[in-house]
Amino acid sequence: MKTEAVSEPETLLCEVCKREDAFGVAGVPGVPYSAAYGRECLKRNAHPYWLMRVNVIAGGGTKEMVAVLEWNTFVDGEYMTVRQALETHPFTKEEMDSVLTGWLERDIEEAIREGIKDK
Ligand SMILES: [Zn+2]
Repeated sequence: MKTEAVSEPETLLCEVCKREDAFGVAGVPGVPYSAAYGRECLKRNAHPYWLMRVNVIAGGGTKEMVAVLEWNTFVDGEYMTVRQALETHPFTKEEMDSVLTGWLERDIEEAIREGIKDK
């Protein structure tokens, strides 16, 4: 019996910097999301910038979100804190509306799925 290769495994890139191979997938602290991390980003405790943006908007300025501002991320080819990144790439109104609408729609869908909408 012959064994055939089904397909070559795809290379998984680091989701933070997108320039190194991923070392593994791990849960992002405090966020219900798992990201592929490379060794350098894992060592620097840097997280995907798009997710940090969504996290800050969705958190709406709570104490926990203020802490997120000091987390590390990777933007424009450099490691920096989320606060530094947001200073050079501020939120747009469209982005905030999009994220907030997405969260609201998700809550409604979840409520319908759980059958608690009409309670
Ligand atoms: Zn990386």
